[in-house]
Amino acid sequence: MVAEALECLGGNGYVEESGLPRLLRESPVSSIWEGSGNVQALDALRALQREPQALNAFLQEIGLARGADHRLDAAVKGLFTELADLEGIEGRARRVVERMALVLQGSLLVRFAPPEVADAFCASRLGGDRGAAFGTLPHTLDLGALVARARITG
Ligand SMILES: Cc1cc2nc3c(=O)[nH]c(=O)nc-3n(C[C@H](O)[C@H](O)[C@H](O)COP(=O)(O)OP(=O)(O)OC[C@H]3O[C@@H](n4cnc5c(N)ncnc54)[C@H](O)[C@@H]3O)c2cc1C
Repeated sequence: MVAEALECLGGNGYVEESGLPRLLRESPVSSIWEGSGNVQALDALRALQREPQALNAFLQEIGLARGADHRLDAAVKGLFTELADLEGIEGRARRVVERMALVLQGSLLVRFAPPEVADAFCASRLGGDRGAAFGTLPHTLDLGALVARARITG
């Protein structure tokens, strides 16, 4: 997101006076300062193994969004396949926990967010209809509404 902010500001975002370079330098630390990503992912798996009711609570929560979006339903099905095969799950820790996070995000968005936001999330993050770079969402989405929602008014 910070890199995209630089893209929006162009060269002005690169000069120290703009403040953005500091954000650019600081932003990667988010992935370690409250525990490195890999260790957090392993912790999440350990919690699921030690306290099966945690997994039940998670499944119950995402189950509340069942049927709301076919891409979300497919992602949940894929997650079940990942969780059913515990062989070498530590090696898949980041992949499995990322998918858990994505389906949880998706389930909350289809229940509580404006439909165009949930649609964009499900298409790109769950349905895979995007590139690896920013600005690659499918043009069929209601992109105008997304931009309008992010715009500061008043
Ligand atoms: C700006 C900043 C602020 C911070 N603030 C706080 C704070 O307020 N309070 C606090 O307690 N700590 C704080 N920390 C420390 C932070 O929590 C640790 O840096 C973080 O937990 C990573 O630990 P480490 O630096 O020892 O890296 P390491 O544990 O050595 O990790 C290095 C790499 O090894 C991997 N790794 C380590 N162990 C395993 C394992 N068992 N299995 C697989 N991979 C593994 C990690 O994923 C990572 O990729 C802060 C750090 C920073 C940079």
